[in-house]
Amino acid sequence: MSFTVHGLAVSRGIAIGRAVIVASSRLDVAHYFIGAEQVEHEIERLRVARNAVVDEIGRVQAAMHGSSTAEAHPELAALLDVHVMLLQDEQMTAAVKNWIEERHYNAEWALTAQLDVLTRQFEEMDDPYLRERKADLEQVVERVLRAMRGDGSAVDSAEATDSSFPESTLLSSHPTAVAPEAPLVLIAHDLSPADMLQFKQSAFAGFVTDVGGKTGHTAIVARSMDIPAVVGARSASHLIKQDDWVIIDGDAGVVLVDPSPVVLAEYGERQRRVSQERERLSRLRNTPAVTVDGEKVELLANIEQPGDVEAVLKAGAVGVGLFRTEFLFMGRAGKLPDEDEQYRAYRNVVKGMRGMPVTIRTIDVGADKPLDRDAAPREDHLNPAMGLRAIRWSLTEPAMFVTQLRAILRAAAHGPVNLLVPMLTHASEIKQTIALIERAKEQLTDEGVPFGPAKLGAMIEVPAAALTVPLFLRYFDYLSIGTNDLIQYTLAIDRADESVAHLFDPVHPAILQLLASTIAMCHAQGKSVSVCGEMAGDVQMTRLLLGLGLRSFSMHPSQVLAIKQQILRSDTERLKAWAQSVLSAEDPAALIDD
Ligand code: PEP
Ligand code: MG
Repeated sequence: MSFTVHGLAVSRGIAIGRAVIVASSRLDVAHYFIGAEQVEHEIERLRVARNAVVDEIGRVQAAMHGSSTAEAHPELAALLDVHVMLLQDEQMTAAVKNWIEERHYNAEWALTAQLDVLTRQFEEMDDPYLRERKADLEQVVERVLRAMRGDGSAVDSAEATDSSFPESTLLSSHPTAVAPEAPLVLIAHDLSPADMLQFKQSAFAGFVTDVGGKTGHTAIVARSMDIPAVVGARSASHLIKQDDWVIIDGDAGVVLVDPSPVVLAEYGERQRRVSQERERLSRLRNTPAVTVDGEKVELLANIEQPGDVEAVLKAGAVGVGLFRTEFLFMGRAGKLPDEDEQYRAYRNVVKGMRGMPVTIRTIDVGADKPLDRDAAPREDHLNPAMGLRAIRWSLTEPAMFVTQLRAILRAAAHGPVNLLVPMLTHASEIKQTIALIERAKEQLTDEGVPFGPAKLGAMIEVPAAALTVPLFLRYFDYLSIGTNDLIQYTLAIDRADESVAHLFDPVHPAILQLLASTIAMCHAQGKSVSVCGEMAGDVQMTRLLLGLGLRSFSMHPSQVLAIKQQILRSDTERLKAWAQSVLSAEDPAALIDD
């Protein structure tokens, strides 16, 4: 039956494929495609694990037999019988094998895919006794997964719910991965930014999540991957079933499930038009970004990993305007990258950019970017966005911070580097930061380690910072406006919360005034200023930002050419007057067309 699920449009384009539902609790299970030659091996792995669990349960049953445990706990004996029965169920075994043979899923993925199918069937049952069997099934699958991981006794630890698995295997593509016949799209309750990094290497053509806001970091990574995505789709992961045909309309924020052939054909056509449009835009790659009236505009790119440099060059960006270094630190189970590892990552970006400037932002963890997915949850009443994140965290970890600063300064010996500090608010934070930068330089000098010069910049992300720009300009060479956070903190809208996403308004008069005054004050002092939040990559905002005087934009590589096209069509002289009228309007959105 066809139906539609609505969410937030976060990453453009159309994806058409079969749904892979990954329950949140299963997100930490390895998901990769195997080569045809590995099918037998995976089935064997599964068989060995299953037999190991059956044997082990058998040993427990034998030990219980005649002992007082069996009499004292008859329900335990019955439970073990049920587990053995489930493990030997031929239908279940055949279905799991089918996922491996037909879809080329790895064994763990096949097992949990079938678990999801059965779980749904159990949930739909009227009989409460049968509904309860769902828990048995989950325990049995957990036992087999544990046996496959080889982490201790599958039986003794079976009741433990911890299913932690090295994150490096999460959603990863296997070295010998093969493409399945139909593209696959991932449907999950939630994906953390760390999940998203693994997702980047995966074979999925798009994704849908139940939760998440438009400028949350999950959405940001989706845009950087340039794959269609819809977040905040509420109960999508419950409504959509494993294997359903799904169309993700990333422009409209709509997911069409089980579409009719006519609708499929229509979206197939739209998909073709999107790729034609991209092809057409790619011709602008080497065209300088200059407005009709001759104003030069700098188009920079935002990246998360050194591997993103290729996309930056392909997009024709003239530098990296924001390297979100925190992604190097995520999902490493507390083992942070040391100075050399960081240095190599930063140096690779600097060298890869072949003399173009690279803006490296110091670590910005916290809020919706925890270092570890399993990081201890903070008490519910605390708001992590207001808490110890970004520079606040770095200043509480001076050793870690100086290590990062040293690595960045060392990378600056290989090409132009701008150092950027997130979320500064207080003069005292500015002074502490600068003192630590000096300390890093002194250490390197004393040790005779080569390093290069780096321009020093601050992000304007907090209203307090935007209201005290002259203070920042006393200490910094340039400013970069992080509109995602500036909007979040000015309008009191959690950027990751879909329930208030409709209030996240980049053209709220308060935001426009903060932007206009920050840009004007920088220019008055001859200092450069850019916008590196999502607003910079939004084609509907380009004319307004140009009108407000902005000449430097940093965005996902995938957006660079579309923004360039807007710039080539713009006349800043005319936009200047128009922007003033937008600035003083009660409802600026009404004046902004596309
Ligand atoms: C921003 O806040 O606009 C920004 C660019 O930083 P991040 O999205 O990483 O918080
Ligand atoms: Mg920010």
